[in-house]
Amino acid sequence: AESRFITNNPLSKNQHDLAVISLPGGNTRTLLHTSPFPLTMVQGKGVYIYDSDRHKYLDLTGDLSAGLFGHTPLPPIRRAIMSALDDVGLSMGATTALEQQHAALLCERFHIDHVRMTNSGTEANIYALAAARHFTGKRKVVVFSGGYHGGVLSFPDGKPAANTVDPDDFVVVPRYNDTDAALNVIKSVEEKGQLAAVLVEAVQGSGGVVPGTRDFLAKVREATKAAGAIFILDEVMTSRLSPHGLGVEYGLKPDMLTLGKYLGGGFSFGAFGGRKDVMAVYDPRLRGGLSHSGTFNNNTMAMLAGYTALSEVFTPEASIAFNRKGDAFRERLVAVSRGTKLSFTGKGSLIGVHFSEDGTEDITSGSDLAGKERADLKDLFWFEMLEEGFWIARRGYMALILQTPEEELDRLVGAVERFLEKYRGLMS
Ligand code: PMP
Repeated sequence: AESRFITNNPLSKNQHDLAVISLPGGNTRTLLHTSPFPLTMVQGKGVYIYDSDRHKYLDLTGDLSAGLFGHTPLPPIRRAIMSALDDVGLSMGATTALEQQHAALLCERFHIDHVRMTNSGTEANIYALAAARHFTGKRKVVVFSGGYHGGVLSFPDGKPAANTVDPDDFVVVPRYNDTDAALNVIKSVEEKGQLAAVLVEAVQGSGGVVPGTRDFLAKVREATKAAGAIFILDEVMTSRLSPHGLGVEYGLKPDMLTLGKYLGGGFSFGAFGGRKDVMAVYDPRLRGGLSHSGTFNNNTMAMLAGYTALSEVFTPEASIAFNRKGDAFRERLVAVSRGTKLSFTGKGSLIGVHFSEDGTEDITSGSDLAGKERADLKDLFWFEMLEEGFWIARRGYMALILQTPEEELDRLVGAVERFLEKYRGLMS
């Protein structure tokens, strides 16, 4: 399959050879590197993307969940973008009513008192952590193995990745969804008088699309409160899963919430918000607070496109219907792969693709797969799906695009069935 990939994609290969001249590894977003070389995409249209060798793919990755609205702005979002260009202008380096409008909607929608914008989810988490530390006067933050909170805030194998900022300030719970372990870690850090915050995803996204159980999240939330620390729910990826986010759906009442991705309507975006008293650390009218800057924080495009996307396109009703569609799709994938080494996890419109020795369906933590993962089969699946015209993240991840037609999802289910049939010997 890999040698066919090389034969089929000469122009992507040429482009990669050019890219390595000025970019280390030919890339400026590590995640998008694939061996032997990545495909170079030249166009996105609706729910499809096209590579330089003119192959067409159904995009099932939706830019790792940021591209909820596909590649061609939907009519209301297009109108907003055009009006931003024609009537408003780009970033003015000044306060505008557009940021107030988007902020008010984000607060109402996700049940937070105050919010501030950034250009990425990474920044949102960095500022949320700074708020928690400043507010509590403490430094340590409890996080979970497999947690991903940004390029410089990730905890893949039970410890901070090598590029994590202030790595010594994090204490990593070795297993997600392990309530006892979490409560023990929280307690021991608290007893040393050091606990500023607990930072957790409601579904571990990069960690394998593993949903947190309601009970686990509720108990971690409760223990954080009892410890006098700030509970930060990272909903950068999960806010799309429920009309008001999973924090509201599960009744978690997080002290701080982080957001991002599709909420900029397709433009760079992040936001952090929460309790008024905690967010007050960023109130410039008060003395002794923190500064929060960023040239493009209130840029016209993201403010207007994000507001329009949330108010006119991804309404609460649209969110419910969309995630139902995702659940039904995932259930079909689970059904066709039962009893094989392939399994699917996730919630609503987010889906994890796993290959493991025993093909377990109930993966409750990325660490469940340790030593059992079959990266060779995952690669094979990726190459085969490309040949069938499906764009899925190499690491095994799908995030649906809002307007993906049912017939296209049917086509993918068929392709998965054909894959399992073709490689029956390897897969059972
Ligand atoms: N938190 C979570 C849960 C994420 O999934 C991501 C991005 N994948 C981030 C934070 C970081 O967001 P960004 O890539 O916009 O910095």
